[in-house]
Parts: sequence; C-alpha cells; structure tokens
Amino acid sequence: MATRTVQNPPRPRYRNGEFVPTRDVPFSAELDEMIAEIRAGNAPNIGRFCGYCCAPLGDLEFCGICDETTDRTPAVDKIDRDLAQIYHAKRKREGLYVHLAAWTGILLATGLSILMILFLPGWTKVFAVIFLVLGGYFAGVFFGNVLIQGFAYRAGLKMFAKRWTEWRTSNRSVGSAA
Ligand SMILES: [Zn+2]
Repeated sequence: MATRTVQNPPRPRYRNGEFVPTRDVPFSAELDEMIAEIRAGNAPNIGRFCGYCCAPLGDLEFCGICDETTDRTPAVDKIDRDLAQIYHAKRKREGLYVHLAAWTGILLATGLSILMILFLPGWTKVFAVIFLVLGGYFAGVFFGNVLIQGFAYRAGLKMFAKRWTEWRTSNRSVGSAA
C-alpha cells in the first residue's frame, strides 16, 4: 500500500457538474466498472490497460483518460492491486455517505411521526402512521439519492485524487529504474 502522504492532492476538475478526467486525477468510470466486476468474480483481471493510469485501452495507442501514449509508457495487461483497492475504497466511501443520509431521512421522518402521534387528536393519529410509512420511505430516498448524491460524488473523487497521487508517487519511486 501507498505510505507516502501527499500534502496538496490535485483537485478533480468538473465541467457542468460532471467530472472530467485529467492526468492529475485520471479516474476512469470504465475501469471502476471493470474492477467491481472483477471483485464480484464476474471477470478476470486481464486486458490491456494504460501503463500510467490503468484505464482500459482496448486497441488504442493512447489513453483517453490521462492522454498517455503507449510509446511513452507501455500498456500493461493487469490492473494494479493497490489501485483496484483505491477504486474499491472510493465506492465504499460513496456508499457510506448515501446510507448515512438515507438513515438520517428515515430517522427524521420517524421523529416527526412520533410528534404527530403526541399532538394529533383522537383518530387523526392514523395520519401519523401513514406519514411514518410514506414519509420514512420518501425521506430515505430523497436524502439518500437526491440530497447526498452530489456530495458523495465529489467526496469520493476528492478521496480518489489524494490516494491516486499517493499510489502513483510510491509506484514510481519503486519502478522508475525499469
Ligand atoms: Zn491513462
């Protein structure tokens, strides 16, 4: 694992709210998908990858993610284990935020329906139960999917930028003689 800590990690770049891969933060959605498949046991760790950022190359001689060419950095046939770990950690981090937010929404809705039970008179307390079921569901979905999505997306990429740089720095100091 990478041990060197990077002081000023590069910032992910965005255009219209969408992440744009750069040489400093070469996150590849395609590679992310591939690593998830490999971890799930649905695909082997074999292919043709960029020697700089590990993005899948297909038949190309240049990388669409980091702009590296295979002349400068020869393609590799495997995804680096530590890098796969970083992609996985990013997914986990995003999932954690989404879960936390969804539970916050559910708890808020539960709290509100308890208040309704306390304050609604007589039979109208039934609305509190309806609210608990529907409100809990929608609050969970809203908080988990809508509210936190953008935040989790950016937080995940920020973490990726830092750990990718650490990985690249430690990797290069090992393999620079080759
Ligand atoms: Zn690349």
